[in-house]
This record gives sequence, C-alpha cells and structure tokens, in this order.
Amino acid sequence: MNLILFGPPGAGKGTQAELLQKRYALAKLSTGDMLRSAPAALAGLVKGYMQKGELVPDDVIIAIIKARIDEKDCAKGFILDGFPRTKAQAEALEGMLHAEGKHLDYVIELAVDDKKLVERITGRFSCAKCGAGYHDIFKQPRKLGICDECAATEFTRREDDKVETVAKRLEVYHRQTAPILDYYRAQAGQGALAYIHVNGMLPIEEVTGVIDAALQAEKKIAENG
Ligand code: ADP
Ligand code: ADP
Ligand code: ZN
Repeated sequence: MNLILFGPPGAGKGTQAELLQKRYALAKLSTGDMLRSAPAALAGLVKGYMQKGELVPDDVIIAIIKARIDEKDCAKGFILDGFPRTKAQAEALEGMLHAEGKHLDYVIELAVDDKKLVERITGRFSCAKCGAGYHDIFKQPRKLGICDECAATEFTRREDDKVETVAKRLEVYHRQTAPILDYYRAQAGQGALAYIHVNGMLPIEEVTGVIDAALQAEKKIAENG
C-alpha cells in the first residue's frame, strides 16, 4: 500500500504519518525531515530556501525521493509526507513508480483552514532525540517535559515555524502545491487511485479514525470487487 498524505504546512501530515506508519508497518518518507537531516553539502544547498519558506528545486527533491523509494523498507509500502509539492514532482513520482511496476493506492487530503494552520505551526515542537511531534496546546507529552516515545527530555522547535515564514509557506502551498489536487482527483475519477478527503480540523484521534475507516472501506471494496 503506497499513499500520499497531502495538505498545507501544519495540517497534521507528520502526526498522522507517524500513526499510520506504526499501524500498517509502512515506511514513512517525510521530505522535510530528510532535508533537515541531510548531509552538510546538501543541507547547505537547501537551507536558504527552507529558511525563507520557499520550495527547494524540483530536481533536488526528486533525486532524493527516487533514491529513497528504491530502499528495501519501501518494498512493503510507503507513506509520502510533504511530497509531491509541485506538478513536476507529481509527474516525476508517477514516472518512477511506473518504471518499477508500482503505483499509488491512496491520496489522503487533510483539509485545514489557514487561520488554524498558523496556530498549529507556531505551537509545534518535537523530541530532539526521536523526532516525535508535539504541540503546546493540542498535544503535550503525557508527562510534562518527557517524550512519550523515548523518554528524552530535550525538545526542539523548527527555525521556519515562525509567524513570518508561515505566511510565505501558506502562500507557496496555495500557489504551487494545492493545484496538484486536481491532478489526483482526475486520476481517482479514472479509477487509478482512491482519493480520500478528510476534515483535518478535527482533533488528532478523530482524524486518525476517519482515515482508518476510509482505508478499511476502500480495502473491502477492493476485496469484493
Ligand atoms: P504537518 O506535518 O502537516 O506540517 P504536523 O503533523 O507537524 O503537520 O502538525 C502540526 C502541529 O499541529 C503539531 O504540533 C501537531 O502536534 C499539531 N496537530 C496535528 N494534527 C492536529 C489536530 N488534528 N488537531 C490539533 N493539533 C494537531
Ligand atoms: P511542513 O511540515 O510545514 O509541511 P516540511 O517539513 O514538509 O513542512 O517542509 C519544510 C520545508 O522543506 C519546506 O518549506 C520546503 O522548503 C522544503 N521541502 C519539503 N518538501 C519539499 C518538496 N517536496 N519540494 C520542495 N521543497 C520541499
Ligand atoms: Zn522522543
């Protein structure tokens, strides 16, 4: 099962990817995380774009994903979080999957209002050791100051999660990324994949519940048909 978690910055893609990865034993491919932990030469190349809230060049990110999808853990299926973000990336993805006899099963859109996104992004922090995601208001660790996943006590905030950069990232999303949704809706119309629209404004557990129910329902349809 190969799927895309699609949505604006702060929609909850990373949060849901973390949960889906565990439940369905899939590889999680978060391009933002890959870029943030990239080797120095690559990190230097992309840093300026990321700090400004702009997209890094298509050829850079496409090369990263192409290499990553070939790794062994992706054979059983993967979750894309933060890729594709442009039409060129979407087409490149289709090409590379096709070449390997793979395809996309689901595109899951997490829809959230811009106003809510600013609140989500400015309150976001994560575990410095394992990367587990948290929020000042919506998702504090169960024990204050201690990571639920690995018990570490150090947390970090992203440099680009500031109000100024967020506005730019939302603008970039609406201009360059949201238009690809039409491309996937059209593919769903032709039966090439299943398109799942989710109200991402709901609390985390409810969003997870809606995604799960949709995946189960689609699976039943596939089994019966
Ligand atoms: P994305 O990967 O789409 O940028 P994240 O998963 O990092 O988004 O979520 C952004 C922030 O909002 C995080 O701090 C996360 O804990 C929080 N969050 C995610 N989903 C929800 C939700 N459904 N309701 C409230 N807060 C959420
Ligand atoms: P968010 O959680 O807000 O959706 P990400 O962590 O996915 O943000 O991405 C952070 C930054 O990394 C983006 O603002 C962009 O500069 C870069 N980036 C991530 N994925 C891509 C991509 N597919 N194409 C171009 N740039 C990307
Ligand atoms: Zn941790």
